[in-house]
Amino acid sequence: MAGPDYLRRTAITRLSVSEREADLLEETIVEWQRGANIATSVGWTNSVTDKRRLQSLCYDDIRDQTDLGSQHTILACFQAAEALKGIHTRKQEGREYSMPEFTSPTVTYDAKTMTLFDDGTVSLATTASRIRCELVLPEDEEGYQYQYLDSEEWQITESTLTARDGEYYLHLGFRKHSSESETDTAEDRTVLGVDLGIENLAVTSTAHFESGRQLLHEHREYEKVRKGLQRTGTESARRTIVRRGDREKRHNRDYLHRVSNRILREASKYDCTHIVFEDLTYIRDAMASSPRFQQWAHRQLVRYVSYKAEEQGIEVEFVDPQNTSRRCCDCGYTSQNNRVNREVFECKSCGSTANADYNAAKNIGWKFVRCGQQHSQRTGDSQLALKSGTVKPNRGFAPYPSVDSGVEAENTDKPAS
Ligand SMILES: [Zn+2]
Repeated sequence: MAGPDYLRRTAITRLSVSEREADLLEETIVEWQRGANIATSVGWTNSVTDKRRLQSLCYDDIRDQTDLGSQHTILACFQAAEALKGIHTRKQEGREYSMPEFTSPTVTYDAKTMTLFDDGTVSLATTASRIRCELVLPEDEEGYQYQYLDSEEWQITESTLTARDGEYYLHLGFRKHSSESETDTAEDRTVLGVDLGIENLAVTSTAHFESGRQLLHEHREYEKVRKGLQRTGTESARRTIVRRGDREKRHNRDYLHRVSNRILREASKYDCTHIVFEDLTYIRDAMASSPRFQQWAHRQLVRYVSYKAEEQGIEVEFVDPQNTSRRCCDCGYTSQNNRVNREVFECKSCGSTANADYNAAKNIGWKFVRCGQQHSQRTGDSQLALKSGTVKPNRGFAPYPSVDSGVEAENTDKPAS
């Protein structure tokens, strides 16, 4: 059992391996499955689910019959014990059960079988010698993996090697002590609001802007070429369409992955516990007519952010987008007339101006903060993360203590670039 006093996170990274290293990993996977299956069958026959007892029962068998090293033999016994415990529970609950079998291409690693180095490489025990290979990490230092890899607080713990489509991945397990204060304020939430759009693909309440222009431009170029080819109508044109279509999809997914990484980065930079999007099932004014490509991009982006957030223990929530583009986030005045044009928001009541999407992002986050407030049983504080500070209902704006370059006006407009 994992103690309750640890926070746990997983960071996934691909490995760069040579052919020889790939062979060794493949062999280790096969031997690991065999070892775990031997332990399972011994435990099954002898009704043993305790990991240490199982280890003493079948350690020698596994060493004799497989090429696993001593520590991997022990880990395989532990893994089998876990699985047998699960079956024991099923049995007690009167559900169907059968002997577990290890077939998935994975291997468990721990501190004795794996070492992470500061230079972005990892050394892994295999059935033969150890191999040392590179972690394939995002180049732009915006990958969420860095906050665990580069941290003094997070310690590496049990991790899993996985093979998929001829590639090898490490699911690196990290843990850190959850301090008193974190438990005390468990109910507190810090919210990052995100507005999705076309000109701006995504804008956060902390004034991080992701332009949608490049994606849209490339999509239009692709459409032009596709239509041209379609008119040609030849077999080779058809093949080219398919090929280019695949390439465009891959390219767009990569692009959206990078955008999602930067949104996650933004959330962790501001210690956000929640990322809030508008609910895409609502059809909002400007989006009603948005082309299918945009809708696809938005859904895809939300999906990427959602699963990456889950890995980091950040929750993704959705709010009804009604009025988020018409409401002034400074004074709350809501009117269609506040929206001067697609880009500019100008409040007809208090006169405050802002980039329209940025204003919407703050409203989206704020909606979620306020709805938490309305549930009377909630005791924790919720706050919206802005560029220069946080806002709480009833308590207003509080600047971040460590903003170095003086106080930045919160109506900061879109950075000129
Ligand atoms: Zn206003």
